[in-house]
Amino acid sequence: MISLGRSGLRVSKLCYGTLTMSPLQKNMLPEEGARLLVHAYERGVRFLDTADLYGTYPHIKLALKQAPDYVISTKAYCYDRQTAQVALERAFKGIGRDYVDLFMLHEQESLYTLRGHEEALVYLAEQKQKGHIGAVGVSTHFCACVNAAPRFPMIDVIHPLINVEGIGIQDGSREDMERAIAAARAFGIGIFAMKPLGGGHLIASNRAALEYALNNPLLDSVAVGMQSIEEIDANAAFFEGSDAISEDMGVLSRRKRRVMVHDWCEGCGRCKARCRQEAIEIVDGRAQIDSEKCVFCGYCARSCPQFCIKVV
Ligand code: SF4
Ligand code: SF4
Repeated sequence: MISLGRSGLRVSKLCYGTLTMSPLQKNMLPEEGARLLVHAYERGVRFLDTADLYGTYPHIKLALKQAPDYVISTKAYCYDRQTAQVALERAFKGIGRDYVDLFMLHEQESLYTLRGHEEALVYLAEQKQKGHIGAVGVSTHFCACVNAAPRFPMIDVIHPLINVEGIGIQDGSREDMERAIAAARAFGIGIFAMKPLGGGHLIASNRAALEYALNNPLLDSVAVGMQSIEEIDANAAFFEGSDAISEDMGVLSRRKRRVMVHDWCEGCGRCKARCRQEAIEIVDGRAQIDSEKCVFCGYCARSCPQFCIKVV
C-alpha cells in the first residue's frame, strides 16, 4: 500500500476506475459490477474511483459488503456550498456510508475555475474536519489546473490525465503535465493518474503505456478501467510485476473502442457543447465523432436527451 501524498490515505498502486462499468460505457448491472470489484479486491486492489456522473454507486454499495476496505474516491461538479452538500449527500446515500475517503471537484481547468469553485472546496474541507471526508481533491485534464492547485491548501489530492503519449491533455504535452505534477508533489499533494491508456487509444500498445504509468515515480496510483475478470487479472499481475501475462495483455490489446451515434440523433448539439476534447461536430444534422480526438469518456452520452450516444 502506498501513501497518497499528505492526504493520509493508503491505497494500492492499481486503482479500479469504474467509468467502464457505468451506464456511460458498458452499462453493467450493479451485481455484475460488484462481482468485478470484489474480484479485484481479492487480487489486492484496495482503491476505486467513481463520480456522481458515473451512476456506479449501486455497484460499489453492493461490492462493499464483501470488500469493505476499499478506499473510495468520488467526484462531482460542485460550484458552491449547496451543490457540494447535495453531491456529498448523494454519495453517502449511494454507497450506504456517511464517509467518503476522497471527494473531488470534477473536471477543473485552471486557476480561474478553482477560484470560481472555492466555496465548494471550503465546504469540503469543513466536512473533512468533521470526519465525513478523508481528503479533498480535484480531477483535471489541464496542466493549468495542476499548476494552480498548490495555491489552495485544502486540495490534498490531484487526479490528472496523463499517459505516455499525452493523449487527452488539453493544454500541453506529457512533459508539461509531468512538470506540473512534480511541482504539486513538492507541496505534498497526492497524485493518482487517469487514462493511462489514453481512453483506449493506447490499447494496441497497452504494455508500454502501463509500464510508463507503473514506473513513473510522479504517480502514487493509477486508475485503470476494467470490464472483465481477465482484464482485472492481467492488470493486477502487471502491477505486481509479473512477466507471465503477455498473452492476456495481447488479448486485451485487440479490444477496440468506439462511440456510436444512433440514427435518431436530432443534431441539437448538446453533446458537442459537453465534449471538452472538441471531438464532436454536427454534420448534416447529426453528431459526428472524431475518433482521433475522442478519449471515450462517455460524458457526451449523458448529455444527450435522446439517448443516442453509446461508448462500446
Ligand atoms: S445530444 Fe444527442 S440528439 Fe443532440 S446532437 Fe448529440 S447525439 Fe444528437
Ligand atoms: S466525444 Fe467527447 S465527450 Fe464523447 S466520449 Fe469522446 S471525448 Fe468523451
